[in-house]
Amino acid sequence: MRPEVLFPLFRAIDSLKGIGPRLAALIAKLAGEHVVDILYHLPSGLVERKEITALSEAYITQQVIVPVTILKHHPSRSRRVPYRITALVGDDNLTLTFFNGREDYLRRQLPEGQTRILAGKLEQYSGDYQMTHPDHILIPGKTVDIPLFEPVYPLTGGVTNNTVIKAVTQVVDKLPDLPEWLDDSLLTREKWYGWAASLQKAHKPQSEADLDGSDAARQRLAYDELLSNQLALELVRKSMRRKKGRSFTGGEDVISAIESALPYKLTTAQNGALADIFADMQSDYRMLRLLQGDVGCGKTAVALMALAKCAGAGAQGAFMAPTEILVRQHMQSIKPFTDAAGLKIALLTGRLKGKKRQALLDELARGDIDILLGTHALFQEDVIYHDLGLAIIDEQHRFGVQQRMALSAKGNAAKGGVDILVMTATPIPRTLALTAYGDMDVSIIVEKPPGRQPIETRAIEIERLDQLAAGLSRKLAVNERIYWVCPLVEESEVSDLAAAEDRYTYLNALYPGQVGLVHGRMKSDDKDAAMEGFKSGKTRILVATTVIEVGVDVPEATVMIIEHAERFGLAQLHQLRGRVGRGALAGSCLLMYAGPLGETQKARLEIMRETEDGFRIAEEDLRLRGAGELLGTRQSGLPQFKVADLQMHARLVQIARDDARLFLEKDPDLSTARGKAIRILLYLFERESAIRYLQSG
Ligand code: ADP
Ligand code: MG
Repeated sequence: MRPEVLFPLFRAIDSLKGIGPRLAALIAKLAGEHVVDILYHLPSGLVERKEITALSEAYITQQVIVPVTILKHHPSRSRRVPYRITALVGDDNLTLTFFNGREDYLRRQLPEGQTRILAGKLEQYSGDYQMTHPDHILIPGKTVDIPLFEPVYPLTGGVTNNTVIKAVTQVVDKLPDLPEWLDDSLLTREKWYGWAASLQKAHKPQSEADLDGSDAARQRLAYDELLSNQLALELVRKSMRRKKGRSFTGGEDVISAIESALPYKLTTAQNGALADIFADMQSDYRMLRLLQGDVGCGKTAVALMALAKCAGAGAQGAFMAPTEILVRQHMQSIKPFTDAAGLKIALLTGRLKGKKRQALLDELARGDIDILLGTHALFQEDVIYHDLGLAIIDEQHRFGVQQRMALSAKGNAAKGGVDILVMTATPIPRTLALTAYGDMDVSIIVEKPPGRQPIETRAIEIERLDQLAAGLSRKLAVNERIYWVCPLVEESEVSDLAAAEDRYTYLNALYPGQVGLVHGRMKSDDKDAAMEGFKSGKTRILVATTVIEVGVDVPEATVMIIEHAERFGLAQLHQLRGRVGRGALAGSCLLMYAGPLGETQKARLEIMRETEDGFRIAEEDLRLRGAGELLGTRQSGLPQFKVADLQMHARLVQIARDDARLFLEKDPDLSTARGKAIRILLYLFERESAIRYLQSG
């Protein structure tokens, strides 16, 4: 239950004075429906007013406070003409302008012959001084001050800045007295204020610097939010860990049989990740681990070893990938080694039907199959495992949490359920990984297998397409292979296809019989045949839409040509480029673009030329696009932050992560004084659902 001290903050927004149901609905869209939402709706700008007594060109466009003598009203006779009032400041004329001004009201506010103090923006209109709709009108001598600084809030149609100011003021001046949930030493070190003081300061900016995310008040508020996020994730993670899993022991013979069959030695980074995974599998809690590794770093081999361990311990493993092409490729790269170890491996995709499918399902249910590879078909309702112990999900960003759950539900709960390993080649910046996937343990493969050569990346104007195409003959002469990726046309598969088919026809005329075509709309068999033709070298140029984006592995491919590269996102470009330079030969990547390029487009191509480091690219992508877009906010379950900005507050994410971990280790039940204050923090940011993960209530 929500603590009572927070009740005032969780009242409906229309409980505030001056806000009726109509405004409440608008504010709900802008900030949220509770009082607390307007409290965390922080100003994005600032009006700084200058007190003046005489007009001067120098003040034009500035916000001023000035005493004026009202001369004469000129009510408007038509809707199109504004209501004008002439006035004097010293010897200078000032025109006050009101659109749709109401005469009775204006005559009362600004009586002819009297002096009033006005606050507003000084403008110039056909050579005269003008002020349109003053923000404040005061009678001289009255003590109501016009603030010299006024916050400017993000607004929406129908909600004025004054409305927000009035609403916020009511809340911020009467904040409940909440216990401090931050550690003293942190507050001192960072020179932060208390919660209430930070909010008050954030709503009363006195300079541009106060609006910046690096301001102490905003940092404190952002930290509160990040800490609540990390605490919630850590609570979930800890409860997962307490879930009894099964302990896989043994299997060493199977593992060493596979290891000795591999044509290479695992890299230190691969072995490091494997050590994490084996430790999870051996322990008696359930594994939920994210394996991150840039394209081409060799995640498949790690998956293979984990599957070997599981099979060696007598259970079944499932390995799921998003596309048929990928599944088949995994099959090809894994089967020789599982065969060598005497394991039975099988393939289940949507293509398998009828009797054959039934036969496979029977084998699976009897436990005759050790490892099952497949697409979504792996967790269809009638797929019953004899004893599923490990599920590996490749390219996890293509699947949702739902699908992860569906696969893990195929295990036998009584035996301890299913260990889960998800793999991604989309490098996720650390801050994002922490906030979005903090409930998983993470292993990262940082190095690539030895012998890889750098990929030379160049940007070329699309006008040179003919020249480029003609030049490919040199590559073909030395037996290299080329991907030619066609532009993404307006999200439409049909036009994608047309572009790819046109390019195929064009290239095939230049290099008859050497060109293949693969796209998303092809039948699976045709797709396979096209991929197979390219792999075996029957065709040596493969024209493709982005179906080859993830995972495809043809070590002989050396050239990646991307048409209209300016239309692709950074992550996509990086994935595509990762398809070459995988073997011993040096690769090259040609980014063909059509100018003129926008700033962001230019920046993307620039970054691609500068670096091959997936993590650096992901960080830049985060900078260029923002977190939500990067992960596809909704599906990824990326939390929406009110104050925190993952870019600006990256440093705080890490501190909050450590803070949450250490604290929950000391006080897992949130029962100490700080623990109790932290409960309030969790409720404040509506992360209270995490509280039910506490060991005891
Ligand atoms: P990804 O991590 O992108 O899924 P893959 O698992 O497809 O990468 O591996 C990329 C290539 O690297 C494959 O051809 C694979 O055989 C090779 N490879 C994997 N591990 C090693 C290693 N330790 N030494 C040499 N080559 C390796
Ligand atoms: Mg892969």
